[in-house]
Amino acid sequence: MEAETFVASRWTRGNLLFPTRLIVSDQSVMRRKRSWFSVSEESIHIRNVASVDITTGLLWSTIRIDSSGGSDPIRSRGHSKSDARRIKELIESLQAHLGSGASAGPDGDTKACPWCAETIKKAAKVCRYCNRELD
Ligand SMILES: [Zn+2]
Repeated sequence: MEAETFVASRWTRGNLLFPTRLIVSDQSVMRRKRSWFSVSEESIHIRNVASVDITTGLLWSTIRIDSSGGSDPIRSRGHSKSDARRIKELIESLQAHLGSGASAGPDGDTKACPWCAETIKKAAKVCRYCNRELD
């Protein structure tokens, strides 16, 4: 997946000149904030995200991403409600992906049965679901 960048609104406190950016990639969530002379970055690995909380005010949402790895939470304010929802969904789906990837084992030793489309081992001679012979 390509990283998605969410930029805080310039009309919120602290964001006029250099709005905060939240960058979500399949590896990590990063908060990037520029100032005149420097760029500060904090990031949490997707694996270490403990929770994503959204607090929505009248106009803007504040996002808080807690880490299970002991580092400080990432906070970013001034995001639109839809961006905030998207960020939460993205992170949660990435985490779900990590989980299923770990339990599915290495890819590449399974295939779909040409007869019944169930997932079976590549080396199988007979499908264990429909018992048909494979070539
Ligand atoms: Zn089959």
